[in-house]
Amino acid sequence: MDIQKLAAHVVLLSSPGLGHLIPFIELGNHFALIHTHLKVTLLAVTSQTSEAETQILNSAMKTNLINIIQIPSPNIFHLIEYDAAPVTRLCVMMREAKPSIRKALSNMTLRPSLFIVDIFGTESLSIAKELRILNYVFVASHAKFLSLVIYTPVLDKQIEGQYVDQEEPLKIPGCNLVPPEDVVDPMLDRNSVQYEEYREVGNRILESDAILVNTWEELEHKHLQALRDEDLLGQILNKIPVHGIGPLVRQRVSETSEEFEPLLQWLDKQPNESVIYISFGSGGTISFEQMTELAWGLELSQQRFVWVVRAPTKVSADAAFFTTKYFNSGDNEVADYLPEGFLSRTNNIGTLIPEWAPQSSILRHRSVGGFLSHCGWNSTLESITNGVPMIAWPLYAEQRMNATLLVEDLGVAVRPKVLPTKKVVDREEIASMVREIMVVDENMKRNPIRGRVKKIRHSAEKALLKGGSSYAAMSRVVKTITSKS
Ligand code: UDP
Repeated sequence: MDIQKLAAHVVLLSSPGLGHLIPFIELGNHFALIHTHLKVTLLAVTSQTSEAETQILNSAMKTNLINIIQIPSPNIFHLIEYDAAPVTRLCVMMREAKPSIRKALSNMTLRPSLFIVDIFGTESLSIAKELRILNYVFVASHAKFLSLVIYTPVLDKQIEGQYVDQEEPLKIPGCNLVPPEDVVDPMLDRNSVQYEEYREVGNRILESDAILVNTWEELEHKHLQALRDEDLLGQILNKIPVHGIGPLVRQRVSETSEEFEPLLQWLDKQPNESVIYISFGSGGTISFEQMTELAWGLELSQQRFVWVVRAPTKVSADAAFFTTKYFNSGDNEVADYLPEGFLSRTNNIGTLIPEWAPQSSILRHRSVGGFLSHCGWNSTLESITNGVPMIAWPLYAEQRMNATLLVEDLGVAVRPKVLPTKKVVDREEIASMVREIMVVDENMKRNPIRGRVKKIRHSAEKALLKGGSSYAAMSRVVKTITSKS
């Protein structure tokens, strides 16, 4: 591309983890597609231990829409405890990567016009300030989550004792009451290192020039308004603009390989909306006991399924977060983790995929009609934008909050009576939830949850089209940078 003709240069910074990398690639592609004269560079701090990560980066590079510079995650083992929590690890890693980030930014031939970081990269906002570059934060989650993050420093002063021990729900301006058990992982223990790191993120976001959120006005009007209203959260943000620019979901990156052809062919043969897809995100795992109940629950429900199976949890549900492999390591066969005879009994209705599946292609397939999900925000958006209702099975991070948003605020999911991280969900309850989202009522000839999610899918499509709220928000951002360049 001829540098002279380029209007502006947008530089993005993503922290390790596929849940961060994937939306940043999509954000980069979105910028490049919306304005062909923008140069877009992604600085991706990579874990370098994940085959899925390599595959995703390679596919993104092949599209030629954005430039990708990989920054290998620095060695931090001498700085943290061996069992440090994910938020601690991410914040320390991104802090230690700052010299490489500074070097990459300063050495760019085309001076960056805008630098966008994720919530774990907020310490690098100071580099952009020093280099006099406009700087934004992209929250690859929803506006209610952003509300909690920026309100945590206030809660920190207001509330005594642990949040989870509070008898009353937490009050965040403009949001429905937050049950104490829904708080994000780092808030579970206020004495932990990761809580301090997380609370400081809430303060540092306020140093940015604007905030982009992977949501849209029609989905979260109330939350976005509260973030702008000076009598509510706008007071904290002090006129920092908040733009809902989503839903940005995986689209351009080709994720299918020959490996997955048999799965897609199997899906082609199934009736419309007849298959439930089960996956716990890029790193989630469940216990051996829970896998047994899930297998029996699926069998009892008599519904068709595709299940991404991983070895059961050994340490914690997010233990695989930094180490997800692409395919089965070959150490164990998936059958080793499942009830005896399960494979042969469900052979005609189910397909098991070890470790990693082409999720967005699966959710886009016409035969998929339900998703049992850990409620990561990318997975949630991939489900909603394909009109697929969910069984909300939160495991870690902000997923409990996402589950409540999906079940109570939006009505597009059902969930177990007790959090699955607190108690094993039994086979009968699983079978009943599967039937609730998959089976169409004989008399009504419809499934009410499906109806609601399809309405939301429609609003998502409209938001991204010319004239839609997210399209307009992105155009405003592009106008700001191109007018300054
Ligand atoms: N993903 C996938 N195949 C899998 C598991 C996950 O393609 O087998 C993708 C999924 O489509 C989503 C991302 O990985 O885009 C996971 O992000 P999410 O925010 O849902 O959860 P996280 O992994 O960050 O907990």
